[in-house]
Amino acid sequence: MRDVIERLINALGRDKVITSDEALRRYSRDFWPLLMMREQLLNEELPKPLAVIVPESVNDISLALRVINEGSDVVPVVVYGGGSSVTGASYGAGSIIIDMSKLNRVIDINTYDSLVTVEAGARLRDVETKLNEVGGYSLRHIPQSFNYATIGGLIATMSSGQYSTLYGNIEDMVINLEIVLPNGEITWLRSNNVPRASTGPSLKYLFIGSEGMLGVITKAVLRIVPLPTHTIYGAYRFNTLEQGVEALRELMVKRVVPAVARLYDEQEASIRFGINKPLLIISFEGYYDDLVQALWRRADEVIRGHGGEYVGSKYFEDWLRTRFNVEEEMETIKKYGLWFDTIEVSTTWSRINQLYKDFRDSLLRVSGVVGVMAHISHLYINGACIYFTVLFRPDENTYWEIWDRAMETTLRNGGSISHHHGIGIVRSRWLRHELGNALDVLRSIKAALDSKGGVLNVKKGMFFPD
Ligand SMILES: Cc1cc2nc3c(=O)[nH]c(=O)nc-3n(C[C@H](O)[C@H](O)[C@H](O)COP(=O)(O)OP(=O)(O)OC[C@H]3O[C@@H](n4cnc5c(N)ncnc54)[C@H](O)[C@@H]3O)c2cc1C
Repeated sequence: MRDVIERLINALGRDKVITSDEALRRYSRDFWPLLMMREQLLNEELPKPLAVIVPESVNDISLALRVINEGSDVVPVVVYGGGSSVTGASYGAGSIIIDMSKLNRVIDINTYDSLVTVEAGARLRDVETKLNEVGGYSLRHIPQSFNYATIGGLIATMSSGQYSTLYGNIEDMVINLEIVLPNGEITWLRSNNVPRASTGPSLKYLFIGSEGMLGVITKAVLRIVPLPTHTIYGAYRFNTLEQGVEALRELMVKRVVPAVARLYDEQEASIRFGINKPLLIISFEGYYDDLVQALWRRADEVIRGHGGEYVGSKYFEDWLRTRFNVEEEMETIKKYGLWFDTIEVSTTWSRINQLYKDFRDSLLRVSGVVGVMAHISHLYINGACIYFTVLFRPDENTYWEIWDRAMETTLRNGGSISHHHGIGIVRSRWLRHELGNALDVLRSIKAALDSKGGVLNVKKGMFFPD
């Protein structure tokens, strides 16, 4: 392994290859709650990567992968964007990490065709700020990790933002990608940037959600929108969660599509808003006052028709003000001697209530679990995401039992094990249960692109733990 690091230093230059223990410590974890628990609550020293490459160009990445492929050893390589993965996807113990932070330029903003071209290491927050400054444009992709995540990481994990119900998820925004393949070859996936093309299977979907195992995303062309000029928001209280679910379903089926809609169960509503009933916060937005007003009036009718009681705009404002308070929330949980994880799954409308109930019942039976709460968000015509937060006394056995039960209950109820956080390490064991034999198709694609046998990201057990 030392040999490959020497060769990387010779090829790229000393200043692009980090090897000092102190500097490597910064890369010893991502935001996977298991690693954070080990480090911050159980006081464990986490294993570090072998080295970190900090490329300054696409050619540096290509050269690094060629050098790594030349040797006889299979050296695992992990691409590191913002390191905000919550599944261990960017955890690189014993690997060579490619830190994308210097490939961070916004290359072109084309407001007439509504396109932005960026380097993949650019932070979402910086891209969004630039777009806002250029005549009020936006990606309108606002995940809670807005301040940490990079464009490449968002694409590689198939991310979903708080406004996804109206604007779609990241896969609806990606127009074109530049990729460095595992063997070092550089390629764009298309020679033109068009709204749609029927030119064989769309290769971009191979890389969206690939979690760094099929290639390094180095540039992306994404669609943008003007910032909305008119917004109406508010909140409704329900007697039961089921009533709220019915209201959301009717809105989606009848195309009264909100920008934000988050239906909290009574546990989460109580902790976040101090209200002991299921609570829906909802907003509509657009570019014409009359259209937004009309949507709001229709939505109000539908929601009241399912038992919703309007409780003003304050709760929505509370959410807007606190929605990025991640560090503060973690500190509060720690103060109570507890730890947490979030598990987001998706299913169809007909299964949501049962999945929600079974999931809570099952996890509340795990010794050490002190709370399970959820909200329903990211709505579609045929279903939605349920985002669970689980509070527990810090312990590794408890942690894995929570995940086993969560995945088993979700699959048994016909749900997907992940709506937007991805597979990473934490879900890998369960992927075959969801994909069946199709996992072997993925394995063949991986083998074809990464002939060395897993240079990019799978050596640590992602996707194919066997
Ligand atoms: C507080 C918090 C809130 C979050 N909220 C949301 C949310 O609302 N919605 C959501 O979808 N997710 C959310 N996440 C999860 C996480 O932020 C997202 O998955 C995000 O997309 C990761 O981006 P990143 O740049 O930090 O990627 P990283 O963590 O660095 O990497 C994630 C994966 O992508 C790969 N990767 C990174 N960059 C590239 C690249 N250029 N080319 C190829 N592969 C690459 C890595 O190898 C790894 O497998 C949240 C995370 C945190 C910590």
